[in-house]
Amino acid sequence: MADSFSSQAYSQGQSQRPSQRSSQALDQVLKVALPSPLRRLFDYLPSRETPPCGWQPGLRVRVPFGRREVVGVVVELADHSDLPRSQLRSISEALDDAPLPEDWLWLCRFAARYYQHSLGDTLHHAMPARLRQGHPMAGRTQTLWLAQGEGAEEILSRAPKQAELHALLRQHPHGLPGRAVSAHGFARDQLLALEKKGLASSQEHILTAPTPPSGNLLATPALPLNREQATALATLHEKLDGYHPCLLEGVTGSGKTEVYLQLIEAVAAKGKQSLVLVPEIGLTPQTLARFRSRFRVPVVALHSGLTDPERLDVWEAAASGRALIIIGTRSAIFTPLANPGAIIVDEEHDGSYKQHDGLRYHARDLAVARAHYHKIPLLMGSATPSLESLHQALSGTYRHLRLTQRPSQHPPAKLELIDLRHQRRQGGLLPGAIKAIKSTLSTGKQVLIFINRRGFAPTLACHACGWMADCHQCDARMTLHRQPPLLACHHCDSRRALPDACPECGSGDLRALGSGTERTEETLQTLFPKTTIHRIDRDSTRRRDSFEQVLKEIQRGEPCVLVGTQMLAKGHHLPHVTLVVVVNADGGLYAADFRALEHSAQLLEQVAGRAGRAAHPGRVLVQTLHPDDPHLGQLAEHGYGALARNMLEERRISQLPPFCFMALLRIESPKEEAALAMAQQAAQALRQWLKETGVATRCLGPVPAPMERRQNRYHLHVMLAADKRSQLHPAVSWLVQWLEANREARKVRWSIDIDPQTLA
Ligand code: ADP
Ligand code: ZN
Ligand code: ZN
Repeated sequence: MADSFSSQAYSQGQSQRPSQRSSQALDQVLKVALPSPLRRLFDYLPSRETPPCGWQPGLRVRVPFGRREVVGVVVELADHSDLPRSQLRSISEALDDAPLPEDWLWLCRFAARYYQHSLGDTLHHAMPARLRQGHPMAGRTQTLWLAQGEGAEEILSRAPKQAELHALLRQHPHGLPGRAVSAHGFARDQLLALEKKGLASSQEHILTAPTPPSGNLLATPALPLNREQATALATLHEKLDGYHPCLLEGVTGSGKTEVYLQLIEAVAAKGKQSLVLVPEIGLTPQTLARFRSRFRVPVVALHSGLTDPERLDVWEAAASGRALIIIGTRSAIFTPLANPGAIIVDEEHDGSYKQHDGLRYHARDLAVARAHYHKIPLLMGSATPSLESLHQALSGTYRHLRLTQRPSQHPPAKLELIDLRHQRRQGGLLPGAIKAIKSTLSTGKQVLIFINRRGFAPTLACHACGWMADCHQCDARMTLHRQPPLLACHHCDSRRALPDACPECGSGDLRALGSGTERTEETLQTLFPKTTIHRIDRDSTRRRDSFEQVLKEIQRGEPCVLVGTQMLAKGHHLPHVTLVVVVNADGGLYAADFRALEHSAQLLEQVAGRAGRAAHPGRVLVQTLHPDDPHLGQLAEHGYGALARNMLEERRISQLPPFCFMALLRIESPKEEAALAMAQQAAQALRQWLKETGVATRCLGPVPAPMERRQNRYHLHVMLAADKRSQLHPAVSWLVQWLEANREARKVRWSIDIDPQTLA
């Protein structure tokens, strides 16, 4: 039924919507998805008033639910319910004149099924807040009613009011808006009656017609491409009218963005839309300015700074086809498109594309599904592709496009490993690093120090008895902060005042162990009193614009030192930075999580990519306790691309993703025994079912989560793994149903994560 509402119809100024009404039986039941974690639909009877388009999937409705009224979406029409009719309640009202966009509805259904999540919850989160709250669409579309048919006088001889209405419509050959009809004192039912007799018809009219691109699309000319860029673009041009997934593997600064811009240009020239996804950190005014200054057509952005009405506006601009270029972070994947032409995912490996609660979707993976559905090209770019995407590219499922040169001529700097063992450090920095900082500053250039810990020091310890400041709610140490002075847990956000003396032995000899950004900043300030030190982390940039201010100042090019967490590592163009120092590279080397190495190698390569982006060559110093580690050595010597191919081989041998498919059941409870008992029961039931059905999925665990106690709750994991997706999904689906039906399971909190990105 949803087919009658094609995305095409939405994009055109005028379109005829086939009538659904005649086919609607009297005993119709509407299956409605509601914002509830329950993975089921709810049956309702139609409201007294039928919406102008008839009942269709995709219509928002307000319905009674328990003692409340909630906003839901009709997703199916049926002619019977498992419940007796007398128990069914009626829809209070339809909120829309026409269903929400079909492509959006399709994507939500796909995501709910794929991630085994409640459809109602998925729809709820995938629509702009204003629609969720039941506000009307801004009303850019209007229903126009027209008189039709012959011999109206005769047919309507015994319905004088309808005859009057028909006469009114005849006076308006271009159609009369529904609102005007009611203003003349007629009821909607009278219009519907006329329509039924074939004497009236309705048309959707879009008030603001899409602006067709005319003349030159570009505000500033495209750059002449180098050979590799030109090859990549030519490959993309080969197939602009079909599903065409491509991985653009290009070193940092190799001009990937220029390729995106020229693909968008080609797509816009055909009057089609491009949806561009960027990582959370990537949607800076800098990035936006780059897109906006290139095109004459409007570039709309979905970012956290928008008000709810603005967000709805962008949504409608995309759904109507008015916006040709839409840029946004993760959730922008749920933007409806009237005229989809291409999807671009920048930094496709970035962790921010995965949502870590509720609907645990991966925007890049949904982009693949969406591009397939729309039959359009999908361009995923990265200097450090995820092993998943790289595997698809190497095995030929995706086209593999490569950029190995930087237009600036300087190849990306090699990592120089320096040994942290047996050497004195100041603020986490080795003498060799301090010397390099000094000489860089003396040549008038900038330095970036990357340190993955905010705060002053990761641990506060008693030198007399060995006591350490632990979080009372988590299996974790408290971080010492100096600005302002306090102890904070970075896992649960609890805070405590700094103790004056050791709570165990009373000694006053409490010492800060290790370094965070605050301590390194303090040390550098002492070492280089005349130099500006900018600290950039979540604590220093709480004010919305402060980060932008600092970035602007850095762009001016005065010599300075930037001390920052991964906020600084990605995406930013820092043309005056020629030295990068990584304070500790060891985080991911020997971690329990099999993806930790991949993620940490990506981060190191991205940080290193900040050096020497413009006219000056760069240097990257990497401090490590494991200078002989083979993975680190390969990264330093041959770069991420080589290490990634090696890691893929290791994953193949140990049968880990992307060579198998995983789903993670997380169970948590304030009571350790309750969580454990439930996890054991679930794993046992699943194993039994797998044995009986022969579904080829392995069930591992339960095991405690890497941090078992977090915020005073105990966390356990059961892992499902299969060589084929087709074997994993039935197992997960069965497990979810089993858990939903299990009364005991209601006493704990549980969630399913398909394709989990971390084991935390
Ligand atoms: P990436 O997206 O791969 O990090 P960018 O597209 O940001 O790389 O390009 C890095 C720099 O090189 C930018 O300043 C960009 O303007 C410049 N650049 C890209 N392509 C070209 C080209 N074909 N000719 C000249 N300069 C280019
Ligand atoms: Zn003590
Ligand atoms: Zn804590």
